Amino acid sequence: MTSAHEDMACGTCLSPLNTTGMPPTYAHPAQVATDGHQPVPIPVNQLDAVRRTCDFCGDPHPTWTLLGGEVAAVLVGEAGGLVQNFGDAWAACATCQTYIDEGRNDKVVDRAVRALGLGNHMQARERIEQLHLAFLNARVPGRTLITTTVWPATLMTARELPKVRDRLARFYRGDDGLPGTLTSTDSRQQIAAGLDRSRLFWIDSDFTDLAEHAAELLPAVTVSRDLMPSTDGLLVWSRPVTTRQITAVSWTADGDGWQLVNYRTVGGGLDGKPLQRLREHVGWLAPVSTDQVHERRVLPGDHPTAALLATWLLIAQRAAEFRAAEIDKAVRKMYARSNRPTPEVQTVHIRANSSTRPTSSRVAPGDSGRSQTNRFWVSGHWRNQPHGPGRALRRPVYINPFLRGPEKAPIKLSTTVRMLSSRKPERKDRE
Ligand SMILES: [Zn+2]
Ligand SMILES: [Zn+2]
Repeated sequence: MTSAHEDMACGTCLSPLNTTGMPPTYAHPAQVATDGHQPVPIPVNQLDAVRRTCDFCGDPHPTWTLLGGEVAAVLVGEAGGLVQNFGDAWAACATCQTYIDEGRNDKVVDRAVRALGLGNHMQARERIEQLHLAFLNARVPGRTLITTTVWPATLMTARELPKVRDRLARFYRGDDGLPGTLTSTDSRQQIAAGLDRSRLFWIDSDFTDLAEHAAELLPAVTVSRDLMPSTDGLLVWSRPVTTRQITAVSWTADGDGWQLVNYRTVGGGLDGKPLQRLREHVGWLAPVSTDQVHERRVLPGDHPTAALLATWLLIAQRAAEFRAAEIDKAVRKMYARSNRPTPEVQTVHIRANSSTRPTSSRVAPGDSGRSQTNRFWVSGHWRNQPHGPGRALRRPVYINPFLRGPEKAPIKLSTTVRMLSSRKPERKDRE
């Protein structure tokens, strides 16, 4: 956490690491209970999830990085250690940030005392206060959003998307910092402008399940304009997908390619003023990772945007049915007042009669008579099919997944059944 070194976290347990000396050595912070493994140092900017905690109160969902006085201290209480800072960059949770903004450092100290299990120990209180003030009194204005925090999911509805998009665009145009490649004002302005132009897509829960399933087995994909359902877009799944727990992706056309950004939701589990302020200042989405791609670039199947690629492919192979979501009257009025056309949100569903339509109650040989209480996806597979001018190009098409089990039964996500078919794949174009 020192400013003289690059921030590192352990690749095994995702805990931030303390760095000392030159050449640097790395250690797990004293308050982190590990199974005894050696730290595996990885630069934080190469990880999209880090298990950091608020340096003021220990909250597991730190939101902002603040710069302040260089402080070195270890706090150890009855409930365990809390802060071990050797640096001038502290992580603050949304609640501590709210109190700090209001000049209520006493409330921040209360939170620390509670987290350490120190009760009303006056001397401990004073020590913590001293420590906080040593940092805060030398604070540099500004703050940077922590994008490696994995929050509990916030579910969004299709009709909320215009508001979600507008907040995100405003955040990109604002003064709060972003780490990594999104530090450039130019690219932030460009993404904000792209969001203004974006078509909005909300993927329903069955299609989200299908896309996540398909993303797991995704082969390499060649990026091309005709793969995308719009030039610029913001696409939101009904829940976080893949191990990266991504909820949304934006793509923005710029000159010779597109800027792709993965997002996770922020603020899950918060309430009251800290939530209200986070929604106001950040919104619902935080950028997690970004990539610049150009026409004809080949992305590997395990690319960070695999879920987007799989969703695009499923839409391009006409497995999707679009419906226009109803837009709130308040939103329509707001857009009219600022002379913007009423936003359109497309909700995306699995198309009837498509090759990827889930077929319920399909009974496999040997299954008859056995009653099932859940439905589960039986994997389809990807196959390259010709497309484009002269059918000279190849693009993966997802074949034959289906839902097995009674029509009304809940879909069990944890069950993955690999079905080995003896049937030869049909040679039929679906273009
Ligand atoms: Zn570790
Ligand atoms: Zn805190």
